[in-house]
Amino acid sequence: MTTIKTTCIRCGGINLTPADVSLELRPGLREGDYRFRCPTCAEPQRRPANPRVVGVLLATGVIFEVVNPDPITEMEIAAFATALEAEPDPLRLLAG
Ligand SMILES: [Zn+2]
Repeated sequence: MTTIKTTCIRCGGINLTPADVSLELRPGLREGDYRFRCPTCAEPQRRPANPRVVGVLLATGVIFEVVNPDPITEMEIAAFATALEAEPDPLRLLAG
């Protein structure tokens, strides 16, 4: 089985299997973060993954998900709703 070598903040060098790791990718980019739980101390950890690391992890069969680092916040939705209500003719906004 493929072994992924990384380091734990408590234990130092550790070996993981692809099943221990999950990868978070940025939309449209070949980089992101990978997460794992140390098999020795069970500490959950997160590390940045550059495109080379991403390629290695994907090649070993690590599962991945695409995450949006800047989700729309409640405040932005509220501000948008307020702007719509303040606009006497909302269709004019669509006409741009
Ligand atoms: Zn550890």
